[in-house]
Amino acid sequence: MIYQDTLQFALQLDEQDTLKSFRNEFLMPKHNGHDAVYLCGNSLGLQPRSAKKYIQDQLNAWEDNAVEGWFMGDEPWLKYHKALLAPLSGILGAKQTEITVMNSLTVNLHLLMVSFYKPTAKRYKILMEAGAFPSDQYAVESQAHFHGFDPKDAIVEVAPRAGETTLRTEDILKSIADNANELALVLFSGINYYTGQFFDLEAIAKAGHAIGAVVGFDLAHAAGNVPLKLHEWDADFACWCSYKYMNSGPGGISGIFVHEKHFGDKSLNRFAGWWGYRRDKQFLMAPGFEPENGAEGWNVSTSPILLMALHKASLDIFEKAGGLQALRAKSETLTGYLEYLIGEVNKKYGEEVYSIITPADKTQRGCQLSIVCRRDAKAIFNYLAANDVVGDWREPDVIRLSPVPLYNSYADVYQAAESLFKALDAVK
Ligand SMILES: *Cc1c(COP(=O)(O)O)cnc(C)c1O
Repeated sequence: MIYQDTLQFALQLDEQDTLKSFRNEFLMPKHNGHDAVYLCGNSLGLQPRSAKKYIQDQLNAWEDNAVEGWFMGDEPWLKYHKALLAPLSGILGAKQTEITVMNSLTVNLHLLMVSFYKPTAKRYKILMEAGAFPSDQYAVESQAHFHGFDPKDAIVEVAPRAGETTLRTEDILKSIADNANELALVLFSGINYYTGQFFDLEAIAKAGHAIGAVVGFDLAHAAGNVPLKLHEWDADFACWCSYKYMNSGPGGISGIFVHEKHFGDKSLNRFAGWWGYRRDKQFLMAPGFEPENGAEGWNVSTSPILLMALHKASLDIFEKAGGLQALRAKSETLTGYLEYLIGEVNKKYGEEVYSIITPADKTQRGCQLSIVCRRDAKAIFNYLAANDVVGDWREPDVIRLSPVPLYNSYADVYQAAESLFKALDAVK
């Protein structure tokens, strides 16, 4: 698309946008008494307008049925999670049996490593990207300790080349091959939270399997953002959170994927609980854990119905919007427009004051652009905030802006770029 640097052009794109009505399904936060330009869906997705009703329905069911709500009413809680599986299977590219929802993300990462990180004296290393999300780093470190290894030795990080900010796929694959005999696990994020780089997960899975390692993904920034094909790509396991691009509320319920090829594997360790027990015999309360077939066998605790209701409110909107393929088409144009406008700001200013470190290749990114500010970065960020543009700040000099196709408009993007330009005057 040939973009233009005018508000009129942005409004024209909004007019033609077949997904434009979905903005109205979400509640825009207020800034100075009017709607903010919210470009922070990478951190916390917006509240669906319907969320209160979904919660209220479950509060009503609790009021009316109390404990019998597990079995009766319009949506018996025992089966409530089942309604989430169809939309999630589309978003993750997985069979419904390969997915379940439970706990929160870091907890799930630990539980999955209990099953899938099975180090031996010789094959004990974990390969991950340098600069992974801190919680993942802490989780992996503590898992290495737990198994009696020194994290400094057990964790292999793949870093960008000198002078580069993102990873080359060839370097990831080479690092896997270089550690062929020692890697127990390859654990990568789908999209790096800092740079916004979307990794070639299929190639990583293939390379990891070729040397005999298990391959898992943390999809916190990828789920609901970019199309995924976990089953086809042959990931062993994956986990994600629902409160970023899946708009399911702060601390919302997380989800996991376990490839069906592992369902019958009795050698996998699990930290089990009664909610992962065979559903047909769950309430016989018999001794001896027998897992439900499929990812559900990893469930531990009683379904948090209110969190699931919030998740359902949002997933139903994804379904109405036609799923991720439809959203992705708009996302590419929308983020492409922000990229173009930032280029125009640099031109008007006469130098590259804003450098985008997110890959320019659309197949290597989702909604997010990470922008290094070459002037007083913090002051620029504060200017944006004071002028109703909500992005987020990463030390030392990065602003992340993420136009989300479900609720952001081209006019939002235009306004953000205008503020980036005006900020330069303000901080001179
Ligand atoms: C957001 C995010 C988390 C957060 O984990 P919680 O357990 O939900 O706090 C973890 N890992 C990655 C990669 C993230 O992007």
